[in-house]
Amino acid sequence: MEQTFFMIKPDGVRRGLIGSIISRLETKGFRLVALKMLTISPEMAREHYAEHQGKSFFNELTDFITSGPVVAMVWEGPAVIKAVRTMMGATDPAEADPGTIRGDMAVSLSENVVHGSDSPIAAAREIGLFFRDL
Ligand code: UDP
Ligand code: MG
Repeated sequence: MEQTFFMIKPDGVRRGLIGSIISRLETKGFRLVALKMLTISPEMAREHYAEHQGKSFFNELTDFITSGPVVAMVWEGPAVIKAVRTMMGATDPAEADPGTIRGDMAVSLSENVVHGSDSPIAAAREIGLFFRDL
């Protein structure tokens, strides 16, 4: 069964959105198979977002993702990687459809509440980074 890495970013934790975000994925029918709250170190942030190294927003991104606790999760289900990306909505909340997490819960590109793996290769890499023992 396919698995994806999914994370509630520090803004989502600060704003008290953990329960309502998890509830959406549970209601959809996906299975939560691992969960932990942690504060990401600068080293881990750079590794997690390695694909964005050198981009103009990289430092802002790593500063933000390390700014407070996140909730890191592994979710399982049929075609879960793509389905969770669809449920997240567009990266920029201004373009995210109503009914999506970002469309309903965020207004800022840099503080867009959630992260989800965008491919099977990314899912395996990110699950390995956050849950080495899975
Ligand atoms: N981001 C940003 N400025 C940009 C592009 C992206 O602050 O111009 C942030 C945004 O919060 C996004 C994260 O960097 O969620 C990672 O970017 P990516 O393109 O991977 O978007 P995602 O996969 O999160 O939708
Ligand atoms: Mg991405």
